[in-house]
Amino acid sequence: MHILLMGPPGAGKGTQAEKLVADFPIPHISTGDMFRAAVKNGTELGKEAKKYMDAGGLVPDEVTIGIVRERLSQPDCVKGFILDGFPRTKEQAAALDDILKDLKIELDAAVNIAVPDADLVSRVTGRRICKACGATFHVTFNPPKKENVCDKCGGSLYQRDDDKETTVKKRLEAYHSQTAPLIAYYKAAGVYKEIDGTQPIDKVYADVVKAVKGK
Ligand SMILES: [Zn+2]
Repeated sequence: MHILLMGPPGAGKGTQAEKLVADFPIPHISTGDMFRAAVKNGTELGKEAKKYMDAGGLVPDEVTIGIVRERLSQPDCVKGFILDGFPRTKEQAAALDDILKDLKIELDAAVNIAVPDADLVSRVTGRRICKACGATFHVTFNPPKKENVCDKCGGSLYQRDDDKETTVKKRLEAYHSQTAPLIAYYKAAGVYKEIDGTQPIDKVYADVVKAVKGK
C-alpha cells in the first residue's frame, strides 16, 4: 500500500493519516518529519538542507528529492507508506516516479481529500485558541460554553494570524496553483482518487480506505 495523501490546508489530512497508521502497519512520511530526521541524523543531505533552513531559505529540489530517496529506501517502506507533503510540483512528481522505479515500488493511489474553498475558509477562520492552555475551539463546530472563554481553564480565546481570512485565502490560492498540475499528472497516471472531504471524519476515512484498497 504505497500512497500519496493530498489535500488543502484545513482538509483534515493529518487526522486521516493518523487513522491510516493506526489501522495499517506502514509509516507516515511527512516532509517536515523527514527533514528533521535527516538533520538530526546528520546525513550529508541533512547537513545540506540545514544550511538552507538556517539561512531561512527554501531547500533546493535536488536536496529535497535526495532526502525523499533516502527515506523511501529504508526497509520499513517496502510494504507501504503514506507520503504526505511531497511531491508539491510536477517536477517533484517526475522525480518521485524515478525513485519508485529504482526501488521497484508501484504507487497505488494519489488520494486527494477535496474540500471547497468556502468550507475551508469557514473551518479555519472559525478556530479559536486558548491563550493560557492552548486548547482549540471552533465558533461553529466546537464552540466554548461561554463565548471567547476556554472551557478547560477559563482563559481567553484568540484567533491566530495564520487563521485570518486574507491569510487563509492566500494560502489556498498558492495551494491550488501548485496542486492543479499534480492532479492532472496523477489523473494521467491512472492513480488519482478524489475523496469528498466535507463528509464526517469517519465517512471520509472509510472512503480513503476504499480508495487505497480499490486497486
Ligand atoms: Zn484554556
